[in-house]
Amino acid sequence: MNVTSGIESGFDIKDIRQHFPILQRQVKGKPLIYFDNAATSQKPQIVLDALSNYYGHYNANIHRGIHTLAEEATAAFEETRDAIRDFIHAGHREEIIFTKGTTESINLVAYTWGRANIQDGDEILISNMEHHSNIVPWQILCKEKNALLKIIPVNDEGELDMEAYKKLISHKTKLVSVVHVSNALGTINPVKDIIRLAHQAGAVVLIDGAQSAVHLDIDVAEMDCDFFAFSMHKLFGPTGVGILYGKKDILENMPPFMGGGEMIKEVHFDKTTYASLPYKFEAGTPNIADVNACKAALVFIDKIGKENLRQHENELLAYATRELKKIDGLHIIGNAKHKVSVISFIVDKIHPQDLGILLDNSGIAVRTGHHCTQPLMQRFGIPGTVRASFSVYNTTEEIDTFVLALKKAIKMLA
Ligand code: PLP
Repeated sequence: MNVTSGIESGFDIKDIRQHFPILQRQVKGKPLIYFDNAATSQKPQIVLDALSNYYGHYNANIHRGIHTLAEEATAAFEETRDAIRDFIHAGHREEIIFTKGTTESINLVAYTWGRANIQDGDEILISNMEHHSNIVPWQILCKEKNALLKIIPVNDEGELDMEAYKKLISHKTKLVSVVHVSNALGTINPVKDIIRLAHQAGAVVLIDGAQSAVHLDIDVAEMDCDFFAFSMHKLFGPTGVGILYGKKDILENMPPFMGGGEMIKEVHFDKTTYASLPYKFEAGTPNIADVNACKAALVFIDKIGKENLRQHENELLAYATRELKKIDGLHIIGNAKHKVSVISFIVDKIHPQDLGILLDNSGIAVRTGHHCTQPLMQRFGIPGTVRASFSVYNTTEEIDTFVLALKKAIKMLA
């Protein structure tokens, strides 16, 4: 399927905003200001068009049919796989597995690779800034296998303590699973160093790229991670599509995840053989419409250019950080040297949720709470934060409106 973005060349914020119909809407009588991009991004018109084009023109189940619609749907599905491979610079298309999100991608590794490779007394290393989806699957696995889950600490700035990491890693470490970019703090972790050290110790590495894939250039081959997981809904794509990248030789040696149609070669009552990669891990009818629309999201990102996107987001981050720091009693949680456009903060004596409600009354969507990182909140001794996360369509004018509304809310609640 040919998809064109309609985006003007160069970085034109007015043009970019026009591609997002939702930005035209009002919330509580005010123009929507959407600062919850770390939770999910909004979708450009080409993604919406791709969805309706699939259902309106070539809706069919894939891989099994020989009729025209099935062939078109299959081609579009597999083209998206190729587009994802290019996007993260994977060596082989078979290394791209479609799941329903980062959560499922991590669980797939835990349930297949984990159960086949983790044994009594082995150690799994994660960090104190992981999302629950990169904690709980390993806790379940460790409990089942009598293995040990060890935690890399986080310093006061919200950065990983790399010296502690070096001490924690040993020949007992079988897996290191860390987040590339923290959803709660915005910290960019030094994953290349983490991976190199883990490999020296003989451990396999999974990188949770849920937050990094939209902001950073991802090159899994250069990074040399063994697994990389992310969700397309954070990259202007539809919900319900996740990616698991895995090195081919590792995936080939892993047992399947779910059993059913699509993932088999032959089924007999006395013996079943499995399909080759990537289909071995894609049981059942996949999320065809949403996967196919993901290609449009990648075309959109490509047209803007990651470098332009990052420059704009970094400008917003610097501007918002400067303005927020001027507010008395406001403390930014997470001041790492290397950050993406995520700002978490607390305000003395005010509950984050109360601020979130008042900001929503001004049409401003921010996230409040623990951001699925309760152990990280415990590390900082707080119940949660207010989190503003910026995307390519946000503006400094929106930040000005946000800062004004925030000051007003603080005055009301103080
Ligand atoms: N990991 C991180 C760092 C995240 O930010 C998220 C979602 O916010 C996830 C994992 C889980 O992603 P999903 O809910 O799309 O499976």
